[in-house]
Amino acid sequence: MDKTDVIVIGAGLAGLNCARELVRRGRSVRLLEATATIGGRIGTELHQGYRLDRGFQALQTAYPEARSALDLSALDLRAFVPGALIRFEGRFHRLADPWRQPLAGLATLFSPVGTLADKWRMAMLRRQLLSAGIDQIYDRPETTADARLRELGFSDAIIDRFFRPFLAGVFFDPTLSVSSRAFEFCFRAFAAGDTAVPATGMGAIPAQLLAALPAGILRTNARVTGLSEGGVTLESGERVSAGAIVVATEGVATARLLGDKVVPGTRGTTCLYFAAAAPPVDEPILVLNATGHGPVNCLVVPTLLSRDYAPAGDSLIAVSVAGIPADDDVIVEAAVRAQMRDWFGAAVDGWRHLKTFRIPDALPLQIPPVDNPRYRTRRRADWLYVCGDYCNAPTINWALYSGRSAAEALVADSDLRQAIA
Ligand SMILES: Cc1cc2nc3c(=O)[nH]c(=O)nc-3n(C[C@H](O)[C@H](O)[C@H](O)COP(=O)(O)OP(=O)(O)OC[C@H]3O[C@@H](n4cnc5c(N)ncnc54)[C@H](O)[C@@H]3O)c2cc1C
Repeated sequence: MDKTDVIVIGAGLAGLNCARELVRRGRSVRLLEATATIGGRIGTELHQGYRLDRGFQALQTAYPEARSALDLSALDLRAFVPGALIRFEGRFHRLADPWRQPLAGLATLFSPVGTLADKWRMAMLRRQLLSAGIDQIYDRPETTADARLRELGFSDAIIDRFFRPFLAGVFFDPTLSVSSRAFEFCFRAFAAGDTAVPATGMGAIPAQLLAALPAGILRTNARVTGLSEGGVTLESGERVSAGAIVVATEGVATARLLGDKVVPGTRGTTCLYFAAAAPPVDEPILVLNATGHGPVNCLVVPTLLSRDYAPAGDSLIAVSVAGIPADDDVIVEAAVRAQMRDWFGAAVDGWRHLKTFRIPDALPLQIPPVDNPRYRTRRRADWLYVCGDYCNAPTINWALYSGRSAAEALVADSDLRQAIA
């Protein structure tokens, strides 16, 4: 067999998009994935007739790279109702649409989610971020999300009752110590478009990327354990040769493979799925816990977005818990049930637990400094490139972007070498 031009290690979104770009640019590619499935952290498992996304996850339709890399209409996206139902003081309070109609949205509140001044500040922040552009967001002075919100004058009430549980759901960090740049990028994406899932689950996203690759490129159950110029070694001991290598694995796995001394820190999350005869809420909206106690961070009902998520007549409920609890799954489920019973009553006793996903390395830490993801170096040697969300910023957008830009850098470098040879 002819020597392959490039081996891409890891079939998450970064690796899939990298492989696609390399193929587009005429390179022969082998995509080696350690597990039995593609998609990495984005995926959907079929379980007893239910579609369980690997932790609650969604696509922001305003992501520029998602718009160019994916055929969004073929994904048959189902959008959440903008805003959130927020639990505190013994009942739910609606935050109608803090991103897209901040004044109108907050004006509908009859709850103390925020002050009148918060309405104005939310509108100003939104306007400023939408007019700023992505580069300006990453190039301006950085602090933590908490410090930025306080700098902007937001009240403790809206920070604790909206921003804290919301950002805990996005960054798995209830302390709001994430970079203000990461926060602003995320806030901008929520303001500029829908938050949605494909009708058949998030796994449709990597499946679409894979479908664009020529048959035979992907090899699953092929864990790479070592690499050097000229090729990689698999767990089985097999050597696979190639002219160049792109490492598209998670930050921790990449550090291990490349022998890096600095291993990127991560944050974890836990997601419990339940089946129920009836949904606990009657619209596809994010339900946030702002009570300040209990294990639950947020809840969604995917079957209110798409009936494909569960067998006919059943509801699928996803409950997210911040971090990885020290207790075992049985204790965590009991604690989640107790809180849900407090919110939704005795019907919760009839919920059937389907599965708990513990995802310890769900996201790279995004504490400052977080640099502009567009300017990250992807070349580690003439023959070695890296990509993945940890070297850009952990979102679907930046994972896709980093895969594409690693492929572009590799092709441009090799074309240049050929031209001067
Ligand atoms: C629960 C959860 C919810 C999320 N929600 C959102 C959201 O709502 N919106 C959003 O934009 N982002 C979200 N994210 C973040 C987003 O999923 C990630 O940023 C993105 O999927 C990362 O893609 P990646 O390709 O960089 O890495 P990964 O998806 O981790 O892919 C790396 C791949 O490399 C493989 N691999 C590792 N080691 C080896 C090896 N030695 N040999 C071969 N293969 C190997 C892995 O098996 C994996 O398939 C969420 C993440 C999680 C976990």
